[in-house]
Amino acid sequence: NALNALNFSAGPGALPGTVLQAAQEAIVAVPEVGLSILGISHRSDWFASVVDETERNIRRLLDLPETHAVLLLQGGATLQFSMVPMLLLRDSGKAAEYVRGGYWSRRSIPPARLEGEVRVLWDGEALGYRRLPAAEELHCSPEAAYFHYVSNETVEGIQFHEIPGREEVPRICDMSSDFLSRPFDAGRFDLIYAHAQKNLGPAGVTLVVIRRDLLERVPAKIPSLLDYRAHLEARSIYNTPPVFAIYVVLLVTRWLLDEIGGLNRMAEINRRKADALYGIIDGHSDIYLGWANSEHRSLMNVTFNLPTPELEQTFAAEAAKAGFSGLKGHRSLGGIRASIYNAMTLDAVESLCGFMTDFASRSD
Ligand code: PMP
Repeated sequence: NALNALNFSAGPGALPGTVLQAAQEAIVAVPEVGLSILGISHRSDWFASVVDETERNIRRLLDLPETHAVLLLQGGATLQFSMVPMLLLRDSGKAAEYVRGGYWSRRSIPPARLEGEVRVLWDGEALGYRRLPAAEELHCSPEAAYFHYVSNETVEGIQFHEIPGREEVPRICDMSSDFLSRPFDAGRFDLIYAHAQKNLGPAGVTLVVIRRDLLERVPAKIPSLLDYRAHLEARSIYNTPPVFAIYVVLLVTRWLLDEIGGLNRMAEINRRKADALYGIIDGHSDIYLGWANSEHRSLMNVTFNLPTPELEQTFAAEAAKAGFSGLKGHRSLGGIRASIYNAMTLDAVESLCGFMTDFASRSD
């Protein structure tokens, strides 16, 4: 839509135009139902079919084995920082192992310490969070309650391109900022969580993919709203869920399957977008200073600095004026961050590249 700015925000992020149009229509009336999506009962047959299809589509996209369940929860990724250790660390008699690789994995650790022993296996602080550990730097214990990491550090723009951890220890991953951006072997994970507001839809719903037999370890006295088992039994309709947000997630999964053609194709497009931006950064290294070490560059959040904070401000202001929204870096880190989630088009990224080339030539 020519009237809209391009959304390079780190989240809530851009959504596909066709999804926005269908969502707009559903606010007035869902075609199959004749009622506004904002007033449809979560106990209706129609909504049960929305949840079913969403789950089916995610299963298809990930080629998810039957050993794993898909849940649609609330509370964002932040609630998972607590739910995971409440259910899987408390009373386990074991320690949980965490990678402290950036802002969000840092935030995941204090809630875990409330529930039991936490071992930080690797801490990126001394290296300024510009890279992530290589496999041989992680001394994972075979006895851990679980191993937890964040696959893509949204703030710093660093991403694991391989799956860390040991196969015999439950592997738990916060994939909030790269879920469904590329294919991966979901069967190797025991629990994955991802809030919707990057690649999947609007804020309000969080996806959890969980290996069913992990739930055998859950301790007693967990409030049921915080217990994965209650949501599994209720097929994600334990209490009133965010009906609209879930519907938009369904529309996004249809878009991924029918318009994009699956995760291999999505990954190819995402790779081309990231290569285009990193190409500009590398080609103008006097003015664009890439944040991440090259082997851990994120394909979702491209972070860089300019030589001075003043020049960064000028860059962000001029970019905003030119229609590129959301480029200012995270408040904890500063700098510039271009987030290029699934729905950001290659065309839009190429326009940003054009702006950056032009800005570089003007700053010579
Ligand atoms: N984990 C990651 C990787 C994130 O990027 C974010 C937010 N951007 C969060 C967790 C926190 O998510 P929420 O606001 O949904 O709790």
